[in-house]
Amino acid sequence: MNCNYVTEKLELFLDEEIPNTEMEGIRQHLLGCEECAKKVETEKHFKQSLRENLGKKLLETNLVDDMKEFILNKN
Ligand SMILES: [Zn+2]
Repeated sequence: MNCNYVTEKLELFLDEEIPNTEMEGIRQHLLGCEECAKKVETEKHFKQSLRENLGKKLLETNLVDDMKEFILNKN
């Protein structure tokens, strides 16, 4: 397990789309490697804010649709 490998698998690691043994290997690496741990944190925050923004967008879209339906039904 080295930094290049961890960086390459970062996305999959966060999505937990790799086998448990690899998850564990990366976790072990992160414990000893500040560089990669930082990358994981950054990526995690990025993903989180992306999801939050997406959620907000979806909410807004639904609201607009509801409004449309309301107006259409009124006519
Ligand atoms: Zn590393």
